[in-house]
Amino acid sequence: MTGQPPDPPGPPAPPPAPGFDLARLLAERGGEGYELHTRHLNHQLPRMLRTIGFDKVYVRAEGAHFWDAEGNDYLDMLSGFGVMGLGRHHPVVRKAVHDALDASLADLTRFDCPPLPGLLAERLLAHSPHLDRVFFSNSGTEAVETALKFARRATGRPRVLHCDHAFHGLTTGSLSVNGESCFRDGFAPLLPDTAVPLGDLGALERELRRGDVAALIVEPIQGKGVLESPPGYLGSAQELLRRHRALLIADEVQTGLGRTGDFWAHRREPGVEPDLICVAKALSGGYVPVGATLGREWIFREVYSSMDRVLIHSASFGANAQAMAAGLAVLSVIEDEGLVANARATGELLRTRLAELVGRYEFLREVRGRGLMTGIEFGRPDSLRLRTRWAMLQAARKGLFAQMVVVPLLTRHRILTQVSGDRLEVIKLIPPLTIGEPEVDRFLTAFTAVMEEAHAGGGLIWDFGRTLVGQAVAHR
Ligand code: PLP
Repeated sequence: MTGQPPDPPGPPAPPPAPGFDLARLLAERGGEGYELHTRHLNHQLPRMLRTIGFDKVYVRAEGAHFWDAEGNDYLDMLSGFGVMGLGRHHPVVRKAVHDALDASLADLTRFDCPPLPGLLAERLLAHSPHLDRVFFSNSGTEAVETALKFARRATGRPRVLHCDHAFHGLTTGSLSVNGESCFRDGFAPLLPDTAVPLGDLGALERELRRGDVAALIVEPIQGKGVLESPPGYLGSAQELLRRHRALLIADEVQTGLGRTGDFWAHRREPGVEPDLICVAKALSGGYVPVGATLGREWIFREVYSSMDRVLIHSASFGANAQAMAAGLAVLSVIEDEGLVANARATGELLRTRLAELVGRYEFLREVRGRGLMTGIEFGRPDSLRLRTRWAMLQAARKGLFAQMVVVPLLTRHRILTQVSGDRLEVIKLIPPLTIGEPEVDRFLTAFTAVMEEAHAGGGLIWDFGRTLVGQAVAHR
């Protein structure tokens, strides 16, 4: 205390600088999204959205819902392809990201060992006690690229096997283990990797006998079509791989973190212990892209085998503080809110109620999945009247009936879903793990209304079907 009088007030604050202001930018140009995409980004996206009537402008989102400018609310049964596992803007994750920003951390210096990556690795590995180490990247495909490289280096072998219809990402390595030609066409030559039919142990063993296989990469439940391998396949495949000194890579990018009602989907078969696990999507909390590859000690030691090789596999943004904070918050919320159990119970409820419709509607063939990953498959109806309509769609292009269902679910019932793969008559539901009975009720009411209309054999839904047929024929 000096007894000095307080300083006189300073000069008035200057007006805001004319520099960057996100709110102002959005207020001025927020309505130009479709036009800007048409001009500067993938021009087929706005084109496709307009064609199917999906060209909405959403302005706000929370949990399993988002809203358009008119205040209409939409139910999200897609979760940004699984990224929004906790729903949008979960307060705990949002606060964690804010806290990481506000802490002004000395992030990404690259020549230090900050605590957050270590803490997130520790927490992830607690869910897979047989694994020891983690490599952090920025996306699912990078998590897969890491696993492919690590498996090749650790085994000294070149070939990675994958299952037909598999999806592991779209960078060149991940594309080489993609089981769908529609993604691969035009990008050859890819890596010398080989497809085996999902569930076919004989085919797997034949490939392993050649002695050049580093690993088999497998989605415990395939995203395309929501297909599960036969019971016991993962365990038997693991046994075969071990006998031939090859590795098992579980791609849990979509199925991990509680999505299927287990923390990891491969857990559905006790005793399955993959050598490498890939995770991404929901670990981001929907905020900060992140990928992680979990693996065994010896594999990491082969990759980082000397001090010279310390940067032999790294990523400039990998393990950044915001991503790590989001990941830690996500794992904490999954536990605190019991989301794995909720996914199991709510998924069961959804599938039980959907299964009741299978006998009632001819187009509805099967409802399958686990936890909050559900596939609804459509097929050829029995009655002649509907069979003719089905044949008209099939002749133009497979997958049009599923598209015919997805569109009114959004445009008339404001529920976002997706067709589960090219030319598949399957729609996939992967809502946030936080949904409960009210969302199940809303989906069932809407889906039943769409099925009623489809089975009436006329009306708007079939008018739209004819439009789809016209477009499919025109694009041949
Ligand atoms: N692996 C699986 C099983 C996926 O479902 C996906 C994306 O859908 C990826 C990998 C690729 O993830 P990303 O889009 O983050 O690269």
